Amino acid sequence: MRLWGKATAGRTRRRMLCLWLLLLGFALVTLALSGLFKRDRERSHQKPGPPRRPLQRIPSAPDLEVIVESRDPALELGVDLSPLKTLQEDELLFVPSTQGTKTPPQKKGSYKVLLPGANKDARATAPPTHGEMGKAVRLNLEGAERDAELSAVQKYGFNEAVSERISLRRRLPETRHPECLGKKYSESLPSVSVVICFHDEAWSTLLRTVHSVLDTAPKHFLQEVLLVDDLSQHGHLKSVLSEYVSHLDGVRLIRSTRRLGVGGCRALGAARAAGEVLVFMDSHCECQKDWLEPLLERVAQDRTRVVSPIMDVIDWQTFQYNATQWPVRGVFDWRLDFYWESNPQLQDKDPDSAVQAVRSPALGGGVVAIDRHFFHSVGAYDPGMLLWGEEQIELSIRVWSCGGSMEVVPCSRVAHLDRHHLPYRFPDQELLQRNKIRIADTWMDAYRKIFYRRDTLAHFIRQSESPNITERLRLKRSLGCRNFHWYLTTVYPQLYIPQDRPALSGELYNVGTGSCADYPRGHGLQGGVMNVAPCSGTGSQHCDLNTEFEVRWGPMGALCLDVRGERAVLSPCPTQRPTPSRLRWKFIKLSGQLVHQQSQSCLEAVKEGGVPQSSPREVNANTGGLFLRPCTHHPRQQWHFEQLVAPKGT
Ligand code: UDP
Ligand code: MN
Repeated sequence: MRLWGKATAGRTRRRMLCLWLLLLGFALVTLALSGLFKRDRERSHQKPGPPRRPLQRIPSAPDLEVIVESRDPALELGVDLSPLKTLQEDELLFVPSTQGTKTPPQKKGSYKVLLPGANKDARATAPPTHGEMGKAVRLNLEGAERDAELSAVQKYGFNEAVSERISLRRRLPETRHPECLGKKYSESLPSVSVVICFHDEAWSTLLRTVHSVLDTAPKHFLQEVLLVDDLSQHGHLKSVLSEYVSHLDGVRLIRSTRRLGVGGCRALGAARAAGEVLVFMDSHCECQKDWLEPLLERVAQDRTRVVSPIMDVIDWQTFQYNATQWPVRGVFDWRLDFYWESNPQLQDKDPDSAVQAVRSPALGGGVVAIDRHFFHSVGAYDPGMLLWGEEQIELSIRVWSCGGSMEVVPCSRVAHLDRHHLPYRFPDQELLQRNKIRIADTWMDAYRKIFYRRDTLAHFIRQSESPNITERLRLKRSLGCRNFHWYLTTVYPQLYIPQDRPALSGELYNVGTGSCADYPRGHGLQGGVMNVAPCSGTGSQHCDLNTEFEVRWGPMGALCLDVRGERAVLSPCPTQRPTPSRLRWKFIKLSGQLVHQQSQSCLEAVKEGGVPQSSPREVNANTGGLFLRPCTHHPRQQWHFEQLVAPKGT
C-alpha cells in the first residue's frame, strides 16, 4: 500500500511538473509570436516612410556586435536596384570594424588565430622561395602529413596544407614590365571599395587576400575592403573571422543569410559599398605592388570602362606564383566558355605597347574594376543566374553592347589561385547550362543557334523550359543596347562565325567504325593529332565544313583539319584567303568520302587496336586515329555529318 501510495504521489508530482512545463512553454511561444508580429507590423508600417537611421543596434546579439543595416540602397543611389529588392533587410548581418581593441592571439578550433598586430614580423621573414615551396610539398608526401594534404586538396581544390605554412603577408616576385616600375599616377584618383565575396573559403587564402589588398592599395584611395560572406558553413568563417576582422582597419564584413551565388553576392556588396569604384575580387588572390593605381586611372578617364589586371596564376599544389605572358585578353567560345588568350598579335610594334591597355572582348571574374554608378546603371549582375559560372561572360557582353568597354591593364597584376576542382557541390547539375541559356536567349539573337549546336544539353533543357528573362530584355531595351552582330563584328571580329550548313556540319560519323572524329580535350588550343572516339552527342565533336573548304573544329572554330604525313591533325586555321590546298577538303555526299584536296587521298578512321587496310606495315597496330589513304569504297572511308540539333532548332 505504502509503495502504491508513494508511486501515486510521484506520478501526481510528475504530472504537475509536466503541466507547469507545458504552461511555461506556451507562455514563451506566445511571447515570441507577439514579438514577431510586432516586428512585422513595424516593418510594414515603415516601408513607405522615410529611410531610417543607417544603423540599428540589436543589444542582445551573441558574442559579436550584430547590426542590422536598414539603408535602402535604391534611395541612396537614385537608381533602380530591383534585382536587389528580394533581399530582406534582416538577411544582412553587418560586423563593423572596431579599432583599438586588440586582444592577444588566440587559438580556436584547428586554426591559430593571429591577430593583425601579432604577425608584424611575418613580412621580414623571407617568403619561401619557389624551390622551397616545391620541397615542402615533396617532403610532406609521406604518412600522416600526406593524408592531411590530400584531404585538404579534396576539401578546397588546392593544397591548403601548403598555403597554411606560407605567411599571410608574403612578398611576391616582381613580374611587371620594367617600364611599369617608374610610372607615376595622379594623386586624385577615385576612392575604391574592394568587394570580396566568399563561400567556404580557406582561412589562409581568404586572409592572405585581405592582407594583400591592405598592404598594396594606397590608404587614400582605399575606402574599404568589403568582405561578403555568402552563407559559408565552415566554422572558421564564423565568429573567429568576425573577431579577426574587427581588428583590421578599414575592413567590413557583411553576411548574407541566403546563398546568393557569385553574381548575387557581388551585387549585394556593390549595394553596400561606398567607394566610387568597385573592385570585385575573388577570395583567393594576391596583389602585386601598385596594382590598384593603373586600374583606377583607366576608370577615372572613362567611367564606362571596365578593367582587369593581368591575372597571374598561383599554383594550386605549390602556391608558386606564375607570371602570365603579355599581351593577354579575355575571350569566349561558342560553348560560352571563357579563356585568357595570350596572343602576341594583339600587341603593336610600338615600344610603348608593353605598358598600354589592350581592349578585351571579355574579362574574367577574378578581379574586375568598374565604376559603381556605371555598374548599377548597366544592370549589375543578372539576378536570374544560379550560384556560379558565366556571370563574367554575361557582364562582358552587356558592358560592350550597352555603351561600355573592357580592357586588360598591363601595369596592374594580381594573382588568382587556379584550383584543381571547385570545392562546392551544386544542387543543380545543369546549373552552368541554365546560366548559358540565359546569356544565349538574352544577348545572342539568332547566333544562339550556333551555341545550342555545340552544347546539346543546353539545347534539350531549353526545349523543355524557358528562362524567365523578361526583366533582362526590358533592361536591354531601356539601355538601347546593340545587337550581337555588332558585338561580333566590332568587338570580337576574330571569333570565327560557323556556317553550320545542313549535311556539312555536326559530328563527323564514320560508318566503318561506328565512331566519330574526335580531338581529345586537353590536347590544347594549338592543335594536335586527331582521333576516333565514341560519338559524344554533347556537341563537343561538332565541326563545320565551310564554303572555303575548311573543316573547322571545336567551340572556337579556330582549329582546322590538316595533315602531317599520313595522319590527320588539327592546326590553327589560316588567316589568309584563299585557303591553302593543304587545308581544303571536299565532301562527296554520294560516297561519303572526305577528300583531301592537295593529295587527293581520303580520310580513313582506324579504331585503337585496328589495322588500317591500305598499308598495315606503317602503322602501329595499337594506334587508332584518322589517316589519309588512297580512296576506296571501304566503310572506314564513309562519313556523315550528323547534326544533333535540327537546323531550325532552338
Ligand atoms: N563564391 C560565392 N558564392 C558562391 C560561389 C562562389 O561567394 O556560391 C565566391 C568564391 O568564394 C570566390 C568567388 O565567388 O571568391 C568566385 O568563385 P570561384 O573562385 O569559385 O570561381 P572560379 O575562380 O573558380 O571561376
Ligand atoms: Mn576564383
